[in-house]
Amino acid sequence: MKIAILSRNRGLYSTRRMVEAGEARGHEMQVFDTLKCYMDVSSLRPGINYRGERIEGFDAVIPRIGASVTVYGLAVLRQFEMLGVFPLNESVAIGRSRDKLRALQLLARKGVGLPTTGFAHDVEDTEHLLKLVGGAPLVVKLLEGTQGRGVVLAETAKAAESVIDAFRELKANFLVQEFIKEARGSDIRCFVIGDKVVAAMMRTAKEGEFRSNLHRGGTASLVKLTPSERSTAVSAAKIMGLNVAGVDIIRSNHGSVVLEVNSSPGLEGIEKATNKDVASMIIEFIEKNAAPHKTRTRGKG
Ligand code: ADP
Repeated sequence: MKIAILSRNRGLYSTRRMVEAGEARGHEMQVFDTLKCYMDVSSLRPGINYRGERIEGFDAVIPRIGASVTVYGLAVLRQFEMLGVFPLNESVAIGRSRDKLRALQLLARKGVGLPTTGFAHDVEDTEHLLKLVGGAPLVVKLLEGTQGRGVVLAETAKAAESVIDAFRELKANFLVQEFIKEARGSDIRCFVIGDKVVAAMMRTAKEGEFRSNLHRGGTASLVKLTPSERSTAVSAAKIMGLNVAGVDIIRSNHGSVVLEVNSSPGLEGIEKATNKDVASMIIEFIEKNAAPHKTRTRGKG
């Protein structure tokens, strides 16, 4: 097969691994810098161009779209979808998971366990918002944050109010969440492909930190998932419409709850922690499932 990868940097571990895995399985792999793709959207023959040439003949596309290029990246991906190229994750599903409010609402609607969470933009009554989610200690999160940036632990009501006032001043969207103290700085990354969790790792924050992101010095270890954690992770991915997802789960004393569903989960941490060849599993999924014009939404919804 001919498989395109949309990625800003071919040197990134995840991109490199997928090229390697695809080539090892006999496919032609080509990496395109997402921001350098350009399109004629009005023509009767819609196309995608790259470095002066039309991109053609691809069977599948693997989107690795960073949060900072979501809007343009999704436009490029939609164009591939319009041409009938099979997307590993489709544009609408990535869009859903990138919007944290929408994602949490979709998950809540389908009964997936979440931490008690409140959203606000411009609350007049901060005290009431804090009460709504059970009072301090609380986690306040900027919606635009990734890799733990903009995630703040407010240990007291006073601290929470100050953080919220500051975010409000910046006109930022944020959410307020119960602090799952009992997780003791650990969460679980479940790597979902299709209807299976193919690998999972526990990430534990470094001393004195509650955020377990590996980018923030967290460490990874092996973990055994319960059957209900497995099915929660798979249904969270399914609800988003993602074929491949990194579902972050945290163990609270009211059960394991979903923190986030990531549509471009990194391979480095999970492959190194579990010693599994996740890249090849992704390529196998494409081999089994790719077909022309096979999206659930056709980029419309
Ligand atoms: P990001 O998308 O920026 O990584 P997350 O919402 O995943 O933001 O939060 C980063 C980390 O902070 C999580 O991996 C987790 O370890 C910790 N964390 C987030 N929310 C909570 C919470 N409600 N209670 C306890 N720890 C949390």
